[in-house]
Amino acid sequence: MDYRQEGKHGFVVYIPSMHSPEMAPDGHHAVTIYTIAPNNLGKGSWDERREEMSRKLIAEAEKYIPDLNKNTVVRLIVTPDDFKNRTHLKHHAFGGVAPVMGKKGLPHQTPFENLWFIGAQSESGAGMNNVMEGVWRAIKKMDNL
Ligand SMILES: Cc1cc2nc3c(=O)[nH]c(=O)nc-3n(C[C@H](O)[C@H](O)[C@H](O)COP(=O)(O)OP(=O)(O)OC[C@H]3O[C@@H](n4cnc5c(N)ncnc54)[C@H](O)[C@@H]3O)c2cc1C
Repeated sequence: MDYRQEGKHGFVVYIPSMHSPEMAPDGHHAVTIYTIAPNNLGKGSWDERREEMSRKLIAEAEKYIPDLNKNTVVRLIVTPDDFKNRTHLKHHAFGGVAPVMGKKGLPHQTPFENLWFIGAQSESGAGMNNVMEGVWRAIKKMDNL
């Protein structure tokens, strides 16, 4: 997929308030729209282009959800730079950490007694299934000590 298509080749719409109504005030929904995007833009920075990129993505989403922009009460834009800052990573990737061929994340079992390392940056790798299975494997290892 060419990630420079700015949402034209696909995006995800996730509505958490469908299963957790408390995530939006009565009569409203919380709607997350996201697409694959590069860490660094070819032209300009995420800070300079965050509004433009968000407008473009909403325009794509409006083809399926008419008047989405007009009816938006609160809008929060999160760019790859925001993810990098939040997670203290130099390179954010979909799922958390950019995989490097032949390299594993940090092992669950650390050299420190009773300190275990789990999650997307651990040996399990990123993604819900990997993280959950990694936790399961770490707990099995703890049980066998
Ligand atoms: C936009 C997006 C879409 C994704 N979609 C998918 C998908 O469709 N399928 C899939 O498999 N994976 C998906 N992923 C990846 C998946 O969400 C992650 O790989 C996974 O959640 C990582 O789990 P984790 O437990 O390592 O971290 P997180 O789920 O990030 O959990 C870490 C938790 O620690 C908390 N925390 C951080 N610092 C502190 C602190 N100092 N004190 C206390 N708490 C703290 C955070 O608030 C957070 O709740 C997606 C990721 C993103 C960003």
